[in-house]
Amino acid sequence: MKRNIKNLNDSELREILSSQKQPAFRSEQIKKAIYKNRKKEFSEISNLPKSLTSYLTENFEINSLKIRTVRKSRDGSVKFLFESLDGNSLEAVYMPWFDDSSENVERETLCISSMSGCSVGCAFCATGKIGFKKNLEIAEMIDQIFLVEDYLHTKLTNIVLMGMGEPLMNYSNVIGALEILTDPNYEIFNRKRITISTSGIAPRIKQLAKFIRPVKLAISLHATSNGVRDKIMPINQSFKLETLMDAVEEYYKITKIPITYEYIIFDNLNDTENDIVRLTKIARRVPSRVNIIPFNDISFTNPTGFASELKPAKREKMEYFAAKLREKGVASIIRDTFGGDIEAACGQLALSEEKIIQTIEI
Ligand code: SF4
Repeated sequence: MKRNIKNLNDSELREILSSQKQPAFRSEQIKKAIYKNRKKEFSEISNLPKSLTSYLTENFEINSLKIRTVRKSRDGSVKFLFESLDGNSLEAVYMPWFDDSSENVERETLCISSMSGCSVGCAFCATGKIGFKKNLEIAEMIDQIFLVEDYLHTKLTNIVLMGMGEPLMNYSNVIGALEILTDPNYEIFNRKRITISTSGIAPRIKQLAKFIRPVKLAISLHATSNGVRDKIMPINQSFKLETLMDAVEEYYKITKIPITYEYIIFDNLNDTENDIVRLTKIARRVPSRVNIIPFNDISFTNPTGFASELKPAKREKMEYFAAKLREKGVASIIRDTFGGDIEAACGQLALSEEKIIQTIEI
């Protein structure tokens, strides 16, 4: 299998070019052609010598994914299921944010995956049920963006790494992708428009704080005590809330970027008055806001054990919770999920397609 050129770092690409007796400036020429001008074939890069074009074509790929399924929702969101060249599935969801008139799109966000499947196993997540298939390569993260922009004929404004996978457990590839995506030479994204969402890999949060062009950080919190968090997010057994909060504080101190906390409210689990008090304390440690998120049904995964007991909280409870947080000075909104009619919950489409494929194979 040919290597994908987007997976090479600067020194690897230069070394390869030097082995072909090419000057160092070819490296930037090739990268600009691929990332800024979005060339999909080496033969489309007109300023390369023919011998180099042939060498690159014979030895490297530019593209890493193909679109397998596209589902469009009534709310304007679009879910993409991709297949990697090695046959794994991954998802991305396009979400248009409308202005007050509901007519003009203000922001166009793509939620991308950092893994195929996921190894973390959060009780409430369909992706966790798929299990871990693989860490996505740099090319596979960037190509989700390029393919969606091509397909929808649009220029995305925001990216969130909140799809399948825990980005900070695929750290070096995620950093490789961020280096390209935030590089001003390629004009893909402003770093302030990129959010990494993590279940709480504390040491990596501290490492990410030192990234040369820091990005926004979202924490999938979902509980205010270790007891509850241990049950719904197994990662909490490795990095307790106190350790996570220390890392978050350090992230803010270094980057000066406010933190977002994601909080799914489950009925009778993390929705008490004590949770409001503890969440307020957590949110006040550094400038932050709390997104209250409705629980996406995962009954289609046939959950067992504790996961089967998770129930969505009523809308009034979510509104009460958010209002109480605001009363205490914590910025908080209910963030409705997109695409309920198209299986847009993280992992949902891949899982249902997997079932379909298994059924066909049987
Ligand atoms: S919520 Fe995120 S980290 Fe947890 S299992 Fe799902 S994809 Fe993995």
